Amino acid sequence: MSAIETDVIIVGAGPVGLFAVFELGLLDLKCHLIDILDRPGGQCTELYPEKPIFDIPGIPHITGQGLTDQLMAQIKPFAPQFHLSQSATALKKRDDGKWQITTDDEVEIVAPVVVIAAGAGTFVSKRPPLPGIDSYEGKSVFYAVKKMEAFRDKHVVIAGGGDSALDWTLNLQPIAKSLTLVHHRDGFRAAPHSVERMRALQAEGKIQFHVASMKALSGTDCVLESVTLVGADKKEWEQKADMLLPFFGLTIKLGPIAEFGLNLHENLIPVDTAKFESSTPGIFAIGDINTYPGKLKLILCGFHEAALMAQAAFHICRPNEKLRFQYTTSSSSLQKKLGVA
Ligand SMILES: Cc1cc2nc3c(=O)[nH]c(=O)nc-3n(C[C@H](O)[C@H](O)[C@H](O)COP(=O)(O)OP(=O)(O)OC[C@H]3O[C@@H](n4cnc5c(N)ncnc54)[C@H](O)[C@@H]3O)c2cc1C
Repeated sequence: MSAIETDVIIVGAGPVGLFAVFELGLLDLKCHLIDILDRPGGQCTELYPEKPIFDIPGIPHITGQGLTDQLMAQIKPFAPQFHLSQSATALKKRDDGKWQITTDDEVEIVAPVVVIAAGAGTFVSKRPPLPGIDSYEGKSVFYAVKKMEAFRDKHVVIAGGGDSALDWTLNLQPIAKSLTLVHHRDGFRAAPHSVERMRALQAEGKIQFHVASMKALSGTDCVLESVTLVGADKKEWEQKADMLLPFFGLTIKLGPIAEFGLNLHENLIPVDTAKFESSTPGIFAIGDINTYPGKLKLILCGFHEAALMAQAAFHICRPNEKLRFQYTTSSSSLQKKLGVA
Protein backbone atom coordinates (compact mmCIF):
# COMPACT_ATOMS: atom_id res chain seq x y z
CA MET A 1 0.00 0.00 0.00
CA SER A 2 1.43 3.43 -0.89
CA ALA A 3 1.95 6.02 1.84
CA ILE A 4 -0.73 8.63 2.54
CA GLU A 5 0.55 12.21 2.13
CA THR A 6 -0.83 14.97 4.33
CA ASP A 7 0.24 18.24 5.99
CA VAL A 8 0.22 17.13 9.62
CA ILE A 9 0.11 13.75 11.36
CA ILE A 10 -1.34 13.89 14.87
CA VAL A 11 -0.56 10.98 17.19
CA GLY A 12 -3.40 10.89 19.72
CA ALA A 13 -7.05 11.88 19.28
CA GLY A 14 -7.60 13.12 22.83
CA PRO A 15 -9.12 16.58 23.40
CA VAL A 16 -5.85 18.31 22.61
CA GLY A 17 -5.20 16.37 19.39
CA LEU A 18 -8.77 17.14 18.31
CA PHE A 19 -8.46 20.86 18.97
CA ALA A 20 -5.16 20.89 17.08
CA VAL A 21 -7.15 19.86 13.98
CA PHE A 22 -9.20 23.03 14.39
CA GLU A 23 -6.24 25.37 14.77
CA LEU A 24 -4.38 23.72 11.87
CA GLY A 25 -7.55 23.68 9.76
CA LEU A 26 -7.97 27.44 10.09
CA LEU A 27 -4.55 27.68 8.43
CA ASP A 28 -5.62 25.27 5.65
CA LEU A 29 -3.46 22.42 6.98
CA LYS A 30 -4.94 18.95 6.57
CA CYS A 31 -4.57 16.37 9.32
CA HIS A 32 -4.53 12.63 9.81
CA LEU A 33 -4.98 11.41 13.39
CA ILE A 34 -3.93 8.06 14.80
CA ASP A 35 -5.28 6.64 18.05
CA ILE A 36 -4.96 3.23 19.61
CA LEU A 37 -8.44 3.61 21.11
CA ASP A 38 -11.49 2.84 19.01
CA ARG A 39 -12.93 6.36 19.33
CA PRO A 40 -11.73 9.90 19.79
CA GLY A 41 -11.63 11.68 23.16
CA GLY A 42 -8.59 10.21 24.94
CA GLN A 43 -8.88 10.31 28.73
CA CYS A 44 -12.18 12.23 28.51
CA THR A 45 -14.06 9.40 26.83
CA GLU A 46 -12.00 6.51 28.17
CA LEU A 47 -11.79 7.46 31.84
CA TYR A 48 -14.60 9.91 32.65
CA PRO A 49 -17.15 10.16 29.82
CA GLU A 50 -20.05 11.01 32.11
CA LYS A 51 -18.26 13.17 34.67
CA PRO A 52 -18.61 16.93 34.40
CA ILE A 53 -15.57 19.11 33.68
CA PHE A 54 -15.90 22.58 35.19
CA ASP A 55 -12.82 24.41 33.88
CA ILE A 56 -13.25 24.65 30.13
CA PRO A 57 -13.31 28.40 29.41
CA GLY A 58 -16.80 29.67 28.61
CA ILE A 59 -18.49 26.33 29.33
CA PRO A 60 -19.67 26.17 32.97
CA HIS A 61 -19.83 22.38 32.85
CA ILE A 62 -19.63 19.64 30.27
CA THR A 63 -19.02 15.90 30.49
CA GLY A 64 -15.94 14.22 29.05
CA GLN A 65 -18.09 12.74 26.28
CA GLY A 66 -19.90 16.04 25.74
CA LEU A 67 -16.63 17.91 25.28
CA THR A 68 -15.43 15.30 22.80
CA ASP A 69 -18.69 15.52 20.85
CA GLN A 70 -18.39 19.31 20.70
CA LEU A 71 -14.78 19.13 19.55
CA MET A 72 -15.76 16.63 16.85
CA ALA A 73 -18.51 19.01 15.67
CA GLN A 74 -16.07 21.94 15.73
CA ILE A 75 -13.49 20.17 13.53
CA LYS A 76 -16.04 18.67 11.10
CA PRO A 77 -15.51 21.40 8.45
CA PHE A 78 -11.86 20.35 8.18
CA ALA A 79 -12.68 16.67 7.47
CA PRO A 80 -9.79 15.14 9.45
CA GLN A 81 -8.97 11.52 8.66
CA PHE A 82 -8.97 9.17 11.65
CA HIS A 83 -6.95 5.97 11.92
CA LEU A 84 -8.50 4.48 15.05
CA SER A 85 -7.68 1.25 16.90
CA GLN A 86 -4.15 1.65 15.59
CA SER A 87 -0.95 2.41 17.39
CA ALA A 88 1.64 4.73 15.89
CA THR A 89 4.59 2.38 16.13
CA ALA A 90 7.44 3.97 14.19
CA LEU A 91 8.69 7.40 13.18
CA LYS A 92 11.37 7.94 10.58
CA LYS A 93 12.75 10.80 8.56
CA ARG A 94 12.66 10.29 4.81
CA ASP A 95 15.26 11.39 2.30
CA ASP A 96 12.95 14.20 1.13
CA GLY A 97 12.99 15.66 4.67
CA LYS A 98 9.43 14.64 5.49
CA TRP A 99 8.40 12.46 8.42
CA GLN A 100 6.82 9.06 8.10
CA ILE A 101 4.69 7.42 10.76
CA THR A 102 3.82 3.74 10.49
CA THR A 103 0.98 2.14 12.42
CA ASP A 104 0.62 -1.43 13.63
CA ASP A 105 -1.94 -1.89 10.83
CA GLU A 106 0.94 -1.08 8.45
CA VAL A 107 -0.59 2.23 7.38
CA GLU A 108 2.14 4.68 6.36
CA ILE A 109 1.50 8.40 6.58
CA VAL A 110 3.94 11.04 5.40
CA ALA A 111 3.96 14.74 6.36
CA PRO A 112 6.36 17.62 6.96
CA VAL A 113 5.02 17.95 10.54
CA VAL A 114 4.21 15.43 13.25
CA VAL A 115 2.29 16.48 16.36
CA ILE A 116 2.56 14.13 19.32
CA ALA A 117 -0.63 14.59 21.39
CA ALA A 118 -0.36 11.21 23.05
CA GLY A 119 -1.28 12.19 26.62
CA ALA A 120 0.30 9.77 29.02
CA GLY A 121 0.75 7.28 26.21
CA THR A 122 -1.25 4.12 26.27
CA PHE A 123 -2.90 3.62 29.62
CA VAL A 124 -3.85 0.26 31.03
CA SER A 125 -5.89 -0.31 34.19
CA LYS A 126 -4.20 -2.34 36.89
CA ARG A 127 -5.81 -5.75 37.03
CA PRO A 128 -6.48 -7.30 40.46
CA PRO A 129 -4.65 -10.63 40.86
CA LEU A 130 -7.82 -12.77 40.75
CA PRO A 131 -7.70 -16.13 38.96
CA GLY A 132 -9.66 -16.09 35.68
CA ILE A 133 -10.57 -12.37 35.87
CA ASP A 134 -9.77 -11.92 32.17
CA SER A 135 -12.70 -14.14 31.18
CA TYR A 136 -15.15 -11.77 32.93
CA GLU A 137 -13.64 -8.54 31.54
CA GLY A 138 -15.95 -6.60 29.22
CA LYS A 139 -19.01 -8.60 30.41
CA SER A 140 -19.07 -8.30 34.20
CA VAL A 141 -15.73 -6.75 35.11
CA PHE A 142 -15.03 -3.19 33.95
CA TYR A 143 -12.18 -0.77 34.63
CA ALA A 144 -14.17 2.31 33.54
CA VAL A 145 -17.84 3.24 33.38
CA LYS A 146 -18.71 3.98 29.78
CA LYS A 147 -22.50 3.80 30.08
CA MET A 148 -24.07 4.17 33.50
CA GLU A 149 -27.26 2.49 32.22
CA ALA A 150 -25.38 -0.82 32.00
CA PHE A 151 -25.30 -0.81 35.83
CA ARG A 152 -29.02 -0.12 36.36
CA ASP A 153 -30.70 -2.69 38.65
CA LYS A 154 -27.46 -4.65 39.04
CA HIS A 155 -25.66 -5.83 42.14
CA VAL A 156 -22.49 -3.76 41.83
CA VAL A 157 -19.23 -4.28 43.72
CA ILE A 158 -16.67 -1.48 43.56
CA ALA A 159 -13.13 -2.10 44.82
CA GLY A 160 -10.63 0.63 45.65
CA GLY A 161 -10.11 3.71 47.80
CA GLY A 162 -9.27 6.50 45.36
CA ASP A 163 -11.37 9.11 43.58
CA SER A 164 -12.65 6.78 40.87
CA ALA A 165 -13.88 4.20 43.40
CA LEU A 166 -15.62 6.81 45.54
CA ASP A 167 -17.01 8.85 42.62
CA TRP A 168 -18.56 5.81 41.01
CA THR A 169 -19.91 4.60 44.35
CA LEU A 170 -21.77 7.93 44.63
CA ASN A 171 -22.83 8.07 40.98
CA LEU A 172 -24.01 4.47 40.62
CA GLN A 173 -25.72 4.09 44.02
CA PRO A 174 -29.00 5.68 42.85
CA ILE A 175 -29.40 3.30 39.90
CA ALA A 176 -27.80 0.05 41.13
CA LYS A 177 -29.91 -2.65 42.79
CA SER A 178 -27.24 -2.87 45.48
CA LEU A 179 -23.85 -1.25 45.80
CA THR A 180 -20.96 -2.62 47.84
CA LEU A 181 -17.69 -0.75 48.24
CA VAL A 182 -14.67 -2.86 49.20
CA HIS A 183 -11.36 -1.41 50.33
CA HIS A 184 -8.52 -3.06 52.19
CA ARG A 185 -8.47 -0.40 54.93
CA ASP A 186 -10.87 2.04 56.57
CA GLY A 187 -9.19 5.08 55.03
CA PHE A 188 -9.35 6.61 51.57
CA ARG A 189 -7.18 8.56 49.16
CA ALA A 190 -10.29 10.09 47.60
CA ALA A 191 -11.48 13.69 48.09
CA PRO A 192 -12.74 14.15 51.69
CA HIS A 193 -16.20 15.40 50.61
CA SER A 194 -16.70 12.21 48.53
CA VAL A 195 -15.72 10.10 51.53
CA GLU A 196 -18.18 12.04 53.72
CA ARG A 197 -21.00 11.47 51.22
CA MET A 198 -20.15 7.77 50.99
CA ARG A 199 -20.20 7.45 54.80
CA ALA A 200 -23.61 9.20 54.88
CA LEU A 201 -25.00 6.73 52.33
CA GLN A 202 -23.59 3.87 54.39
CA ALA A 203 -25.23 5.25 57.56
CA GLU A 204 -28.56 5.45 55.68
CA GLY A 205 -28.15 1.81 54.63
CA LYS A 206 -28.05 2.77 50.93
CA ILE A 207 -24.64 1.20 50.31
CA GLN A 208 -22.50 -1.37 52.07
CA PHE A 209 -18.86 -0.70 52.82
CA HIS A 210 -16.50 -3.53 53.81
CA VAL A 211 -12.88 -3.41 54.89
CA ALA A 212 -11.92 -6.49 52.94
CA SER A 213 -9.94 -7.76 50.01
CA MET A 214 -11.10 -9.77 47.02
CA LYS A 215 -10.00 -13.39 46.82
CA ALA A 216 -11.90 -14.99 43.92
CA LEU A 217 -14.67 -14.55 41.36
CA SER A 218 -17.49 -17.02 40.70
CA GLY A 219 -19.89 -17.14 37.81
CA THR A 220 -21.23 -19.10 34.88
CA ASP A 221 -20.29 -18.68 31.21
CA CYS A 222 -18.11 -15.66 31.99
CA VAL A 223 -21.02 -13.90 33.74
CA LEU A 224 -20.19 -12.95 37.30
CA GLU A 225 -22.39 -14.12 40.19
CA SER A 226 -20.34 -13.37 43.29
CA VAL A 227 -17.03 -12.15 44.63
CA THR A 228 -15.30 -13.97 47.51
CA LEU A 229 -14.29 -11.35 50.06
CA VAL A 230 -11.90 -11.76 52.98
CA GLY A 231 -12.44 -9.45 55.94
CA ALA A 232 -9.83 -7.97 58.26
CA ASP A 233 -10.63 -10.84 60.68
CA LYS A 234 -9.74 -13.31 57.85
CA LYS A 235 -13.39 -14.45 57.59
CA GLU A 236 -14.50 -15.17 54.03
CA TRP A 237 -17.92 -14.67 52.46
CA GLU A 238 -19.59 -14.58 49.07
CA GLN A 239 -20.76 -11.13 48.04
CA LYS A 240 -23.48 -11.19 45.38
CA ALA A 241 -22.23 -9.34 42.31
CA ASP A 242 -23.41 -8.92 38.73
CA MET A 243 -20.80 -6.28 38.02
CA LEU A 244 -17.36 -5.63 39.47
CA LEU A 245 -15.51 -2.34 39.07
CA PRO A 246 -11.93 -2.61 40.35
CA PHE A 247 -10.25 0.81 40.57
CA PHE A 248 -6.67 -0.03 41.45
CA GLY A 249 -5.12 2.75 39.41
CA LEU A 250 -3.66 2.89 35.96
CA THR A 251 -0.42 1.72 34.57
CA ILE A 252 0.68 4.35 32.15
CA LYS A 253 2.96 3.15 29.44
CA LEU A 254 4.47 5.58 27.01
CA GLY A 255 4.45 2.74 24.52
CA PRO A 256 6.07 2.98 21.09
CA ILE A 257 6.72 6.72 21.38
CA ALA A 258 9.62 5.81 23.66
CA GLU A 259 11.26 4.27 20.57
CA PHE A 260 10.74 7.28 18.27
CA GLY A 261 14.25 8.59 19.05
CA LEU A 262 12.92 11.80 20.62
CA ASN A 263 14.50 13.55 23.56
CA LEU A 264 12.51 12.44 26.64
CA HIS A 265 12.50 13.61 30.24
CA GLU A 266 10.73 11.23 32.63
CA ASN A 267 8.60 9.90 29.74
CA LEU A 268 7.58 13.41 28.68
CA ILE A 269 8.73 15.38 25.66
CA PRO A 270 10.45 18.66 26.54
CA VAL A 271 9.27 21.53 24.33
CA ASP A 272 9.82 25.27 23.99
CA THR A 273 6.89 27.47 24.98
CA ALA A 274 6.78 29.60 21.84
CA LYS A 275 6.08 26.80 19.36
CA PHE A 276 5.74 23.64 21.47
CA GLU A 277 8.28 21.99 19.22
CA SER A 278 10.48 19.20 20.54
CA SER A 279 14.25 19.30 20.11
CA THR A 280 13.68 17.44 16.82
CA PRO A 281 12.63 20.00 14.19
CA GLY A 282 9.20 19.32 12.72
CA ILE A 283 8.09 17.19 15.69
CA PHE A 284 5.78 19.05 18.06
CA ALA A 285 4.36 17.84 21.38
CA ILE A 286 1.19 19.25 22.92
CA GLY A 287 -1.11 18.32 25.81
CA ASP A 288 -0.24 15.99 28.67
CA ILE A 289 2.72 14.43 26.82
CA ASN A 290 4.90 17.55 26.90
CA THR A 291 6.89 19.22 29.64
CA TYR A 292 8.17 22.76 30.19
CA PRO A 293 8.60 25.00 33.22
CA GLY A 294 5.21 25.59 34.82
CA LYS A 295 3.39 22.93 32.79
CA LEU A 296 -0.13 22.09 34.01
CA LYS A 297 -1.83 18.96 32.72
CA LEU A 298 -5.10 20.72 31.96
CA ILE A 299 -7.18 20.59 28.80
CA LEU A 300 -7.22 24.37 28.49
CA CYS A 301 -3.39 24.47 28.57
CA GLY A 302 -3.31 21.90 25.76
CA PHE A 303 -5.69 24.05 23.70
CA HIS A 304 -3.36 27.05 24.02
CA GLU A 305 -0.39 24.89 23.04
CA ALA A 306 -2.29 23.69 19.95
CA ALA A 307 -2.90 27.27 18.80
CA LEU A 308 0.77 28.25 19.02
CA MET A 309 1.96 24.96 17.54
CA ALA A 310 -0.28 25.51 14.48
CA GLN A 311 1.33 28.86 13.70
CA ALA A 312 4.80 27.29 13.75
CA ALA A 313 3.68 24.22 11.81
CA PHE A 314 2.33 26.47 9.05
CA HIS A 315 5.81 27.86 8.35
CA ILE A 316 7.20 24.32 7.96
CA CYS A 317 4.33 23.12 5.73
CA ARG A 318 4.10 26.31 3.63
CA PRO A 319 7.62 27.81 3.72
CA ASN A 320 6.91 30.19 0.84
CA GLU A 321 3.60 31.54 2.13
CA LYS A 322 2.95 34.41 4.50
CA LEU A 323 0.78 33.81 7.53
CA ARG A 324 -1.76 36.52 8.30
CA PHE A 325 -3.18 36.58 11.82
CA GLN A 326 -6.98 36.66 11.68
CA TYR A 327 -9.96 36.51 14.05
CA THR A 328 -12.78 34.07 13.39
CA THR A 329 -15.28 36.81 14.34
CA SER A 330 -14.19 39.17 11.59
CA SER A 331 -12.43 37.14 8.90
CA SER A 332 -14.75 36.15 6.07
CA SER A 333 -12.09 33.76 4.74
CA LEU A 334 -11.95 31.88 8.07
CA GLN A 335 -15.74 31.86 8.22
CA LYS A 336 -15.84 30.40 4.72
CA LYS A 337 -13.52 27.58 5.83
CA LEU A 338 -15.85 26.96 8.79
CA GLY A 339 -18.84 26.89 6.45
CA VAL A 340 -20.60 29.74 8.25
CA ALA A 341 -20.16 32.58 5.73
C1 LIG B 1 -10.48 11.38 36.18
C2 LIG B 1 -9.88 12.56 35.46
C3 LIG B 1 -10.49 13.80 35.57
C4 LIG B 1 -9.95 14.90 34.89
N1 LIG B 1 -10.56 16.12 35.03
C5 LIG B 1 -10.07 17.19 34.36
C6 LIG B 1 -10.69 18.47 34.46
O1 LIG B 1 -11.67 18.64 35.18
N2 LIG B 1 -10.15 19.50 33.74
C7 LIG B 1 -9.05 19.36 32.94
O2 LIG B 1 -8.63 20.32 32.31
N3 LIG B 1 -8.42 18.15 32.86
C8 LIG B 1 -8.91 17.08 33.54
N4 LIG B 1 -8.27 15.87 33.45
C9 LIG B 1 -7.03 15.80 32.65
C10 LIG B 1 -7.37 15.76 31.16
O3 LIG B 1 -8.23 14.65 30.88
C11 LIG B 1 -6.08 15.66 30.36
O4 LIG B 1 -5.31 16.82 30.63
C12 LIG B 1 -6.39 15.60 28.87
O5 LIG B 1 -7.12 14.43 28.56
C13 LIG B 1 -5.09 15.61 28.07
O6 LIG B 1 -5.45 15.55 26.73
P1 LIG B 1 -4.44 14.96 25.65
O7 LIG B 1 -5.19 15.06 24.35
O8 LIG B 1 -3.13 15.63 25.80
O9 LIG B 1 -4.19 13.44 26.07
P2 LIG B 1 -5.18 12.20 26.27
O10 LIG B 1 -6.56 12.63 26.61
O11 LIG B 1 -4.46 11.30 27.20
O12 LIG B 1 -5.23 11.53 24.82
C14 LIG B 1 -4.06 10.97 24.27
C15 LIG B 1 -4.45 9.94 23.24
O13 LIG B 1 -3.25 9.44 22.61
C16 LIG B 1 -3.43 8.07 22.34
N5 LIG B 1 -2.10 7.46 22.16
C17 LIG B 1 -1.05 7.44 23.01
N6 LIG B 1 0.01 6.82 22.45
C18 LIG B 1 -0.39 6.43 21.22
C19 LIG B 1 0.24 5.75 20.15
N7 LIG B 1 1.52 5.35 20.20
N8 LIG B 1 -0.49 5.48 19.02
C20 LIG B 1 -1.78 5.88 18.92
N9 LIG B 1 -2.42 6.55 19.90
C21 LIG B 1 -1.73 6.82 21.02
C22 LIG B 1 -4.18 7.56 23.55
O14 LIG B 1 -4.88 6.37 23.23
C23 LIG B 1 -5.15 8.72 23.84
O15 LIG B 1 -6.40 8.55 23.21
C24 LIG B 1 -8.77 14.76 34.10
C25 LIG B 1 -8.17 13.51 33.99
C26 LIG B 1 -8.70 12.41 34.66
C27 LIG B 1 -8.04 11.09 34.54
